[in-house]
Amino acid sequence: MKIFLLLSFLFYSATTFSQKGLKAISLKETTRIETALAADNMEGRRAFTTGNEKAAAFIADEFQRIGLKKWNNQDSYLQTFQMVKKINANKRASYSFDLSQEGEKVLLSNVVGILPGKSKPNEYVIFSGHFDHLGISSRNLKDNDSIYNGANDDAAGVTAMIMLAKYFKKLNNNERTIIFAAFNAEEMGGFGATYFSKQFDPVQVIAMFNIEMIGTESKWGKNSAFITGFEKTNMGELLQKNLTGTNFTFYPDPYPTQQLFYRSDNATLARLGVPAHTISTSKMDNEPNYHKASDEVSTLDLKNMNQIIKAIALSSKGIVAGLETPTRVEVSALRNR
Ligand SMILES: [Zn+2]
Repeated sequence: MKIFLLLSFLFYSATTFSQKGLKAISLKETTRIETALAADNMEGRRAFTTGNEKAAAFIADEFQRIGLKKWNNQDSYLQTFQMVKKINANKRASYSFDLSQEGEKVLLSNVVGILPGKSKPNEYVIFSGHFDHLGISSRNLKDNDSIYNGANDDAAGVTAMIMLAKYFKKLNNNERTIIFAAFNAEEMGGFGATYFSKQFDPVQVIAMFNIEMIGTESKWGKNSAFITGFEKTNMGELLQKNLTGTNFTFYPDPYPTQQLFYRSDNATLARLGVPAHTISTSKMDNEPNYHKASDEVSTLDLKNMNQIIKAIALSSKGIVAGLETPTRVEVSALRNR
């Protein structure tokens, strides 16, 4: 009996990873989407440029093909909003949400799609990444390359978010509503996430999986990633528990002095109490292409990245099914801006 149990346990661990639906997260599709988002014709996807608009249109098209619903029955996946642009004395641009201010009115778009929950439609689970990057710059021009492709930062996270949309659409059994969001202008101050966070009551958001830079191996090697702000809620523990029996490990953020929890779009929702964390593999002490024109698809390990996406899918199982609810972030304990 003991031997039988042991064998069946081994069999179970070996097969967890080939469970239903995970095939939808294919290396071929991950490669196609990542390559398109990081292509030179997206011109580095800088907010307020045509390359950025092109990237938004590409993501919206993917949402359409997957069959996601639109937010609040709107007529587009693009969540477009206005800001005021001001040029200050040293010719640098600044942006404000206060439309009463003097300056040029400019537009930005997030891209948002949803899968309504079967039994808990008013409880939201968010998967997100930011699609903007740094654009084109001839500063530090190297090898004649001026396009900051942002393959890892954060075409990788957006690719993961789109692949997760495919996966959950195929499973078609999410009890909570899943919101898939590609945020704009993260690199300029998180304007997209800020606008997005005002479109609903944050109490309704059960969890946010923000995904940033998962294209390179983590400091522990393949099949591992880290979660920022691990100690701020029990969400990380819940995700770890769902990976028990697989060859995947999610660790607490190993770079606490870098304050990564506050450096991506998850922080905007965390400040509203939402259990909102960023999942990443980026070696912050040794990532030679970070914020360089050389952040290109050729520097990524797409196979490992595809496996990380599967791990995120599995780790979220209990939350998406409405069986697990992470503790809230204690807002008063967070750092000031
Ligand atoms: Zn980023």
